[in-house]
Amino acid sequence: MKIYIDGKFCEKEDAKVSVFDHGVLYGDGIFEGIRAYNGRIFRLEDHLQRLDESARAILLKLPLPIKDIEKAIIETVRLNNLKDAYIRLVVTRGIGDLGLDMRKCKGGATLFIIADKIELYPEEFYEKGLTLVTSTIRQKGLDQVTPGVKSLNYLANILARAEATAAGAQEAILLNATGHVSECSGDNIFYIKDGRIFTPPTSAGILVGVTRNVVMELSHEKLGIKVIERNFPRYDLYGADEVFLTGTGAEVIAGVKIDGRVIGKGACGPITKQLIKHFREYANSTGTPVYETAKAK
Ligand SMILES: *Cc1c(COP(=O)(O)O)cnc(C)c1O
Repeated sequence: MKIYIDGKFCEKEDAKVSVFDHGVLYGDGIFEGIRAYNGRIFRLEDHLQRLDESARAILLKLPLPIKDIEKAIIETVRLNNLKDAYIRLVVTRGIGDLGLDMRKCKGGATLFIIADKIELYPEEFYEKGLTLVTSTIRQKGLDQVTPGVKSLNYLANILARAEATAAGAQEAILLNATGHVSECSGDNIFYIKDGRIFTPPTSAGILVGVTRNVVMELSHEKLGIKVIERNFPRYDLYGADEVFLTGTGAEVIAGVKIDGRVIGKGACGPITKQLIKHFREYANSTGTPVYETAKAK
């Protein structure tokens, strides 16, 4: 496996960052999780745009122009000979001292890219659906570092996921400070009621998922259903006909049990099934080509 770090490729064993890197010392940095399907990188521009916005939000100067980061991502997938891949792009504040002052990270940001085989939920979960629980951990408020930044500070999400695991569930739902549903530990959330599809708005405190946006487009274009963004309490999920989650890793997947309540018929419902099908068709027919760069997108 070839890993990209700061302009060079190295073997997995040699891919190391400094113990003085503020990404390690403070979780000071940002990341993206990106997928490639069938030799094409899915929605790469969207991921790069979000990376750029996250960088601006945390006063982080990206070590390369976006165009060059794009080239590095493509090259990493190509060198590893992958067609279907999960790509992790990380930008840390870089090497500083033991203090918080970002000005001490004089060498600038560290950028690394890992391209690996995809690991997703086993196929049976896409038919049977996931079990979810509401976490005791609250989503960060909009007055804090916004949940819209895909930051390396993932501890709240990790602890929420641990609560799910302890409860025998696969994912955890985070409520925000007003008790409205925001998202899951690593996925966005939707529910369906009487043929209408709802999802929390950005103002609920969510990471605005690339997959979320794609599913909203597909729902409109393919099913003729315009997703409604609105705030809702978790009780609306309990009474829903269907619940599903979206994320780069999970793609589109149903939630069929929440806090011990069975959702709808307790299996992946008909509209979610349609969205999974359309998402997979779309994901496999679009994207930035890795091996035939001359070909149009
Ligand atoms: C990355 C992420 C998502 C999903 O975003 P995608 O761009 O669809 O992968 C949702 N919530 C959180 C907290 C995330 O970090």
